[in-house]
Amino acid sequence: MRFLTEDALLKCDHGGTVGLAPRQDWVRVAGRRVLVEDDLLGRPVRACPMVTPTTPACARTVSISETPSLSALVRVQTQGDRPRRVYLDTATGHTDWARLSTVSFAVAEPGQSLVGTGS
Ligand SMILES: [Zn+2]
Repeated sequence: MRFLTEDALLKCDHGGTVGLAPRQDWVRVAGRRVLVEDDLLGRPVRACPMVTPTTPACARTVSISETPSLSALVRVQTQGDRPRRVYLDTATGHTDWARLSTVSFAVAEPGQSLVGTGS
């Protein structure tokens, strides 16, 4: 499974795009920052097309499924922060669509193909 970087593409089930903001800049792959624990939580979802008169589009991510999403082995710890697990290309979770947290999001592209881990 590959690590996710800031160039990863994550989409809600409707095709909206999850906006990324890496919190650490110490560990990089080919110069691009690796995403670590909590980077995918509470992120905005842009351009989700699933809008009806009664249900707004996905606005943000609200939960992460930890076991498939986070490496069991690889952590990054930067000064003044706790160790944070690295996100893998199997990352998934839910958005706030219709405010019920029932719509999934997942990785379309990890952003790099060089570095990964078995778990
Ligand atoms: Zn959506």
